[in-house]
Amino acid sequence: QKGCPEGTGYSNPFFHKRGVPKGRSILTPFLIKGVATKLTGYLIKSRRRVEEFFPGTNQEVKVYSIFGKRKGPTLLVFGGIQGDEPGGYLAADRYVGLNLKKGNLIVVPRLNLAAILAQKREGLTGDMNRKFALPKNIQQDPDIKVVNLARDLIANADYILNLHQGSGFYSPIWINHQRNPLRWGQCNVIDAFVFDLPNGERLELESFAQNVVRRINSKIQDENYHFLVNNTNTGDKKSLHKEQRKSLTYYALTQKHKIALGIEVTKKCSSPQAVAYLSIAINSVLKELGIAPEEFPGEDPDSIAEELKKNEKFSGLKVKINGCEKLIIPGQNIFLKIGEPLQILNLETEKSRGWYVNLVNSGSYNALGQTYWFTKDNKLLIHKDGKLIASFEIMPRSYLLGSLEVNLDGRVCRFHNQETILLPKNGRLRILKVYPEKDKNKVKVNLKGFIGNKGYNDGEDSGYVISADDLIPKYALDYPENTFYRIEISEQGNLVGEVFLKLT
Ligand SMILES: [Zn+2]
Repeated sequence: QKGCPEGTGYSNPFFHKRGVPKGRSILTPFLIKGVATKLTGYLIKSRRRVEEFFPGTNQEVKVYSIFGKRKGPTLLVFGGIQGDEPGGYLAADRYVGLNLKKGNLIVVPRLNLAAILAQKREGLTGDMNRKFALPKNIQQDPDIKVVNLARDLIANADYILNLHQGSGFYSPIWINHQRNPLRWGQCNVIDAFVFDLPNGERLELESFAQNVVRRINSKIQDENYHFLVNNTNTGDKKSLHKEQRKSLTYYALTQKHKIALGIEVTKKCSSPQAVAYLSIAINSVLKELGIAPEEFPGEDPDSIAEELKKNEKFSGLKVKINGCEKLIIPGQNIFLKIGEPLQILNLETEKSRGWYVNLVNSGSYNALGQTYWFTKDNKLLIHKDGKLIASFEIMPRSYLLGSLEVNLDGRVCRFHNQETILLPKNGRLRILKVYPEKDKNKVKVNLKGFIGNKGYNDGEDSGYVISADDLIPKYALDYPENTFYRIEISEQGNLVGEVFLKLT
């Protein structure tokens, strides 16, 4: 940190500041066999593995493997194959950190990132859950590499879950518009009652799905939300759901001979409630299979609601500008000299999963760890899954504000670029000048919400005596408290710095 300006970026009392999360202990690079696609992977501890496929792109897939202390079956859980069913990836996320006493778990919370970022069922080119009958080497479809990855993972698991949120409520008989054989909510989907294997053995899908349903329903008090087994009888001539022949579960069953369930939770409930139902379903499958975590993820919707809210909190973007670390908080811009490297270090969030830093017009959807050089203005967008949480303007300049000299209640002091001036009630502030010094005609200092020259607002506020009463609340950055203002420093029309003013 030698040579870095002190205090910049960290001195803002308005925003909640948090400690830097500790990095994960990554030991040895690790590649799984049989996956022909480009990948990077890491072995983390001995019972845990995180693999990253197609990193940085909008097809990024993270695969979390957890190995139990004792042997047992391997359950593979997919979430996010469709982007408009957030319950799936939010529920799958809750299983990534488990420790297992017995059995193994492979979790892919977000299989179809492009669809999740768009918050649409379809990703790059159509519904990914209709692509599992495509040939492996088809050239025209960009999704095929992700489909092939899923196929390879399926081959290495014993049981497969594909998490969904569906419309209405499934019922084998027509009850009403919302509850009938064509609806999907609250059911375990199987493609056949039984499946005969070439070696004479038989996969008993229905009895497995029924056992799971019994476990699920014992946890759900409201009978309207009880689960049923929904056999789509996919291979049958009379099937109502022949489209499912292209699905992930049908592929798993017919090509890889695995018991695969689609878990469908209704969209007719809140997101935390959907995550709760899906968690109940996954926990029930784990119990049915004898896969034993040290602790099961909770099933209480209120606690889940709090958990989800916490996971959406964002308190800043950690970057390195020309070797100096800096925390950019929401509302600030990213200033740097032309030619200086900007490295995206970290997002200050509770958990890292589902967070993406997208550099506009770069094709980079996850810019974490990347270094960029800018000659033109650009923008970073911070998303939690498909939701835009914050954006930061990137402003490369040949001249940048170093510090702003002010007279604060009779004392002359300087504030670095992006620092905050605390102005007490009845306090008086006068803006003096900018450093490095610059021709006065070329640099403007404009306190947004203050009018210096009452006759003609020329946006130049140096030299005037400013008190809290002079500020126009609608310019405050922290509506409705109205205690936080921005002083913009511009050179020939370009923003070159900002200092904040906080009324105390
Ligand atoms: Zn779905």
